[in-house]
Amino acid sequence: MDNTNSYSISTLSQKVQSGLSLNNVDLDNLSLSLAQISGSDKLSDYDKNNLKILFDYFIVNSNDNVFNITLFSKRFNKELSSNWIDVPVSFLSSMWKSIENIPSSHFELNENIKAIVIESFGESQGQGDYLSSIRQIILSKEMFFDHPDDVVPLFLHEIGHAIRQKISNEDICSWYSSYGWYSSSDDDSGIEGWIGIMGGWDNLSAEQQIEIRRCIRECFGVSERTLTRGPAPQNIFLGHPWESFKTKAVYDKTFDFWYEHLDQSYQYNGLVFFMNFYYKQLMAVSKSTVDLIYNSNINKYSLMGPEEFFAELYSYYYDPNQRALLSKEIQIWFKIHVDTV
Ligand SMILES: [Zn+2]
Repeated sequence: MDNTNSYSISTLSQKVQSGLSLNNVDLDNLSLSLAQISGSDKLSDYDKNNLKILFDYFIVNSNDNVFNITLFSKRFNKELSSNWIDVPVSFLSSMWKSIENIPSSHFELNENIKAIVIESFGESQGQGDYLSSIRQIILSKEMFFDHPDDVVPLFLHEIGHAIRQKISNEDICSWYSSYGWYSSSDDDSGIEGWIGIMGGWDNLSAEQQIEIRRCIRECFGVSERTLTRGPAPQNIFLGHPWESFKTKAVYDKTFDFWYEHLDQSYQYNGLVFFMNFYYKQLMAVSKSTVDLIYNSNINKYSLMGPEEFFAELYSYYYDPNQRALLSKEIQIWFKIHVDTV
């Protein structure tokens, strides 16, 4: 006859290791046994190993994802939304493996990640997000079915966003500028800085400059974050300064999913200029950075903006099969500034 003790994690794990089945263990039993071990931020190596043995057992022997969701959640101290029931459990297994390649401070002990949530996304909204205010990683449900190979890289990418907050602004900003990254908002000083590195206002009058600023802001005039180009400015009469000033060329050459087409974008003084309609920011990056990414088989999405550059390269750095695609310089920077966080 079973007593409570027979449902301790170590007993269950020993049964599995002896080749016995856990057929009569239900979710209540499992939850009870998980409650007996310490908070998952303080798990012993012994408990961790037992959780892995049980996780691997249920992957093979249960049709019910809920066992694996519960074990993953306990092992890594994260809440998993109820939608996890709807995606194949093999994804949790690949994610578990990928976590083993990153420092424990990045995920399981990272208090900036509390939950992993699955939600439906529109296609122009990307495949995932990290919301620092509520400490959530959100993954698009569609990705699991339409782009299954993207799940683990994107998961690492979102962890990258969460880890980015722990790197000093000074370090990351000097790293960004070494790749030519510039980004600013569309307020007066942001526009001023962006036009400045583009060679200045040429001979536009103060009134004409005001019109250019209005036009730039109208391009960002959609409410939702989007990876497609924003609306063209309105009320452009004949002879309007927008028609002949370089910002129109930047707008015209910022295509939908702009990071895929930066080789066609407006260039000046070794920089490539574009508008980021997702973050509503004015952007530039070195032409040599674009070449580096385009020529090394790294996902072009890393050129979406500087924060994406970091998060995407993070995902390559911590994937043992992808790290070699990164330049030595990038690998060394990650080793010094990110491995140690
Ligand atoms: Zn991102």
